[in-house]
Amino acid sequence: FQKKQMRSTVGVFSEQMEKLYSKELRLKNGLTKAIEQHQLRIVYQPIIRSEDNTIAAFEALLRWRNEDENIPPDEFIPIAEQYGLIHEIGAWVLNHACQHASQWGIGRNVAVCVNVSVIQFQNENFINIVKNALLNSGLPAELLHLEITESVFVADFDSTSNLIKQLQRMGIKVSIDDFGTGYSSLSVLQDLAVNMVKIDRSFVAKMDSNGAAIVTAVINIADSFNFLVIAEGVETEKQTNALKKLGVQYLQGYFHSRPLELENIPSYLQSGVSPSTTNLSHQVDQR
Ligand code: C2E
Ligand code: MG
Ligand code: MG
Ligand code: MG
Repeated sequence: FQKKQMRSTVGVFSEQMEKLYSKELRLKNGLTKAIEQHQLRIVYQPIIRSEDNTIAAFEALLRWRNEDENIPPDEFIPIAEQYGLIHEIGAWVLNHACQHASQWGIGRNVAVCVNVSVIQFQNENFINIVKNALLNSGLPAELLHLEITESVFVADFDSTSNLIKQLQRMGIKVSIDDFGTGYSSLSVLQDLAVNMVKIDRSFVAKMDSNGAAIVTAVINIADSFNFLVIAEGVETEKQTNALKKLGVQYLQGYFHSRPLELENIPSYLQSGVSPSTTNLSHQVDQR
C-alpha cells in the first residue's frame, strides 16, 4: 500500500514538473520571436519629487503580449535570463527607452530609469551597449538612470563596483532597486557609492500595519551613506504623507500614477504636475 501511494505521489509530482517545464519552454520559444514580431512594448511609470510634486523621471517597465495573453515581467524576465535571451531583450529596452526619453526628457530634465538584470550587468559588452543607446538616441547621459538589484554585488563586488564608477563618470546615475530585500551587508552597501536606492514596496505596504519602523531604518541607512531615496509602491495618501515626513525625496506608485502607455506621456507631462519654475535649481539631482 505504502509503495503504491508513494509511486502515485511521485507521479503527480513529476506531472506537475513536466507541466512547469513545458510552460517554461513555451515561454522561451515565444520570447525568442517576441522582438521581431513586435510583441514587446515599454510602459512608463512616473517618479515624483516629494518636495514639489514635479515629475523627476519615468521608469521603463517591459510588457510582453504573446498570443492575446499578457505575460508579466516577473514571469518572463527570469526565463530570458536563464536562456540567455536577456542580452538582446535588455539592449532592445535600453535603445527604445533612450529613444523615447529623448523625445520627452530633454529640456524638461525628466530622466528615464531602466531596469538592468544581473546577467546584463556582468556582460563585458554592457558598457558599449549603453554608450550606443545614448549615441543613437542623443539622450544626455545625465537623463539615464540604471536600476540594479543587490544580487549583482553577491556575484563580484570589484567588477560591479568598477562598472558603477565607469557609468557614473559618463554621467549616468545608478540606483539599487528593491532595496532592503537583498543580502548585502551594510559595509558592502556603503562601499558601493550608488546614487539612489528604491525602498521595496513590501516595506511601504507594511507601514500601514506595522508602523514605519523598517522604512525609517532603511531611510536612515540610505541617508548616512548619502543615497537619495525613492519609495516604491506608494498606494495611498496616508503613505505619501508619512514618507514625505520621513524625508523620502522621491515617490512612485499607483497613488501618483500607474505605468503609462508611451503615447500618454506628453499629455501627462502637460497636465498638472509640470515642473514649477521656482524649483528649477532642484531639477538636477546632486549626486
Ligand atoms: P521593479 O523594477 O521593482 O518595478 C516595480 C513593479 O511594481 C512594477 O511591476 C510596477 O508596475 C509595480 N508597481 C508600481 N507601483 C505599484 C503600486 O503602487 N502597487 C503595486 N502593487 N505595484 C506597483 P512590473 O511592471 O510587473 O515589473 C515587475 C518587475 O519586472 C520589475 O520590478 C523589474 O524587476 C522587472 N522588469 C520590468 N521591466 C524590466 C526590464 O526592462 N528589464 C529587466 N531586467 N527587468 C524588468
Ligand atoms: Mg525597477
Ligand atoms: Mg522594485
Ligand atoms: Mg523588482
